[in-house]
Amino acid sequence: MNPIATLLFSAAALMASTAHAAEVELWRLDCGEIEVRDLSLFSDTYNHVGEKRTLTNSCYVIRHDQDYMLWDAGLPSGLLGAKLDPAAVLAPTLAKDIPSQLAEIDLKPGQIGRLGISHNHFDHVGQAASFPQATLMIGAADLAQFRNTPLPFGVDPAFVKPWLDDGAKVDAISGDRDVFGDGTVTILSTPGHTPGETSLLVRLAETGPVLLSGDVVHFEEQFENRGVPGFNFDRAETLASMERLTGIAKALDATMIVQHDPNDISKLPAFPKSAK
Ligand SMILES: [Zn+2]
Repeated sequence: MNPIATLLFSAAALMASTAHAAEVELWRLDCGEIEVRDLSLFSDTYNHVGEKRTLTNSCYVIRHDQDYMLWDAGLPSGLLGAKLDPAAVLAPTLAKDIPSQLAEIDLKPGQIGRLGISHNHFDHVGQAASFPQATLMIGAADLAQFRNTPLPFGVDPAFVKPWLDDGAKVDAISGDRDVFGDGTVTILSTPGHTPGETSLLVRLAETGPVLLSGDVVHFEEQFENRGVPGFNFDRAETLASMERLTGIAKALDATMIVQHDPNDISKLPAFPKSAK
């Protein structure tokens, strides 16, 4: 090779080796609150008997260069400003819908290309229909349950109508999925709460890896006390998924975010700030 060709070749190799790494950014949205008057509903090991607790309900926006993904779609907007029903065992309410929070970071609902859903329960798909152009990414077993008769606890197909009826784009996921093909955002198979439950691993350049644990547990203590909600699809799978997530968190030194645990809110910057 002549010297000029060698130089060009080296420059090309250098450019390839420093190939653009995608910028990844993560925001936490407020997608409601659920007042639980009998917390023992969430534990079949008799933890939390007689306890009450307000669970947070969170959604997340991930930017991967120019692509945006929403992780979970929160409580239905019909619950905006809902007064807490004093008689209900579970009393949900919503202070702000997702589109109005997106507007605060100059995002329009139409810019959300992927709608990743941890599982099919109403508090995770409530506002999905605000993003009908997005590809719905959901565990195949959870997608199938939308057509079950009778419907399982917490499952209402009305919230995902565009993807069941109108030919909107659906990506039914089995196993894990590297969402953008570069390892920065990975949907993890963590079944048990529902048959197709998933969690999300987001690898951020400054913050490090973040695990959004869906509803594998509802609050941090459950990783220790192994309490499982009596209404879960499969107890053994739930325990295996808890073990998988804690194992990943340990191996990667990841920040674990239990989506319903109010104690975990402070692990990410307060909206509209993002983690990078
Ligand atoms: Zn939930």
